[in-house]
Amino acid sequence: QARGLGGNQYLFYTSEFNADLSRELLLENHLRYALARDEIEVWYQPQVDAASGALYGAEALIRWHHPRLGIIAPSEFVPIAEATGLIQQISAFALQQVVHDAETLHTAGKPLHFGINLSPRQFLYETLLNEIAATLKRHPLPPELLEFEIIESQAMTHLELAQQTMNALKQLGCGLALDDFGTGYSSLAWLNQLPVDTLKIDQSFVRELDKPAMQQLIRGICAMAQALDKRLIAEGVEHAEQADFLRACGVDILQGYLYGKPVDREAFISRLRGAD
Ligand code: C2E
Ligand code: MG
Ligand code: MG
Ligand code: MG
Repeated sequence: QARGLGGNQYLFYTSEFNADLSRELLLENHLRYALARDEIEVWYQPQVDAASGALYGAEALIRWHHPRLGIIAPSEFVPIAEATGLIQQISAFALQQVVHDAETLHTAGKPLHFGINLSPRQFLYETLLNEIAATLKRHPLPPELLEFEIIESQAMTHLELAQQTMNALKQLGCGLALDDFGTGYSSLAWLNQLPVDTLKIDQSFVRELDKPAMQQLIRGICAMAQALDKRLIAEGVEHAEQADFLRACGVDILQGYLYGKPVDREAFISRLRGAD
């Protein structure tokens, strides 16, 4: 591809930039077949009630199990799925899996809450809402057990669509969370207008909880959440000291490696059986 640029220039194109680009192109190509080949998986990470320590639910996190490249993280393939539009089918698939599992557990007497991440790209389509409405009609599952997560900064950049989507999901009876909260500069006025039930404190805040300034900031977020009557979930909780601080501040739900890394569905469900 360096044709016509002269011999020296070719070296530039054979740098690691080229390797990154070809991996991206390869992933983009293979992603088209990933669903049909059963390579997309839904994993679950536990969320616990801060006060009681009881299991509250789980966040659904997708993985791509590529036959040759292994497990590919959503941070790498979700942007490709968004750019190609494949995110629609992938999300629809993930939704079916989560609703199926949530219903199975609910029927078995374990009404767990499930967090489902939504991409901004999905706001642009009514298909998503129709899909969710139709799925809920097919499954006798209390809709409040599903909580859709929208990243705060992405909700801000697509304000009107995010608001419409949120209102529609609320009408269906589902829960709504602002993900990576604190990194998106929402105004208080705006927060108060959104039909959001939950704020998920970003893990970058939790990671720096050993700093007094961060402790002050978290106290402020907690006071605000209380005033606005929002539930608080903290992400990225890895150490008992972080959990103790967050609990003392009044954070409702804790999520992080301290309680468990994301695991595949079978592992999550068999662990639940083990807890009986
Ligand atoms: P997120 O929704 O903020 O999810 C939390 C991320 O933090 C997950 O990364 C999780 O594995 C990781 N995490 C949880 N606890 C800890 C901890 O204690 N320490 C550390 N270091 N990390 C922790 P993951 O699974 O790689 O997902 C990354 C992002 O990809 C998610 O961030 C979410 O924005 C997106 N994503 C995941 N699944 C989906 C999906 O089905 N649809 C869409 N649109 N996006 C998804
Ligand atoms: Mg999330
Ligand atoms: Mg987050
Ligand atoms: Mg994130």
